[in-house]
Amino acid sequence: MKEYKLIIENLEKTDKLAQKLGKVLFPGAVIALEGDLGAGKTTFTKGIAKALNIKKNVNSPTFTIIKEYSGDLNLYHMDVYRLNNEYEDLGFDEYFYNDGITVIEWASKIYDQLPVNRLNINIYVSGESERIIEVIPFGEKYQSLCEEVFNV
Ligand code: ADP
Ligand code: MG
Repeated sequence: MKEYKLIIENLEKTDKLAQKLGKVLFPGAVIALEGDLGAGKTTFTKGIAKALNIKKNVNSPTFTIIKEYSGDLNLYHMDVYRLNNEYEDLGFDEYFYNDGITVIEWASKIYDQLPVNRLNINIYVSGESERIIEVIPFGEKYQSLCEEVFNV
């Protein structure tokens, strides 16, 4: 399985990369984001939302856990950091197996509930505005998506 590692120099480039991905996402795509607080998970989600023509401001759903937005495709933005335990199920499958796009912050917290086919994106802070973005596709559809977006 091919993995991708990209060095992103600044905020604008994170936004651009997320938009590039957002433009080619297929209905039902699931993106599992990981990274410390302040790494850029919400920033990356905002870029995807922009590409989906979502006009509403996308902000962190930390307290609500799931927020829905409508655009060219629906966006389900989850932040599962505050879940009481990893087995707590808020009906995630209804979002995952659906024609919208699901983006999950702190996805490893619900590791066992994640769909097998998905795109893992890990963001590492490597400088004040530099980030290392690691992308791991699971499943053929995500692999070809990555060839298109992350092969530079
Ligand atoms: P998270 O959701 O992972 O906690 P946020 O996206 O909310 O992180 O916050 C990321 C913070 O880091 C923002 O304040 C953003 O402006 C800043 N930042 C600086 N450089 C970058 C970059 N290259 N990519 C993403 N965020 C960056
Ligand atoms: Mg966040």
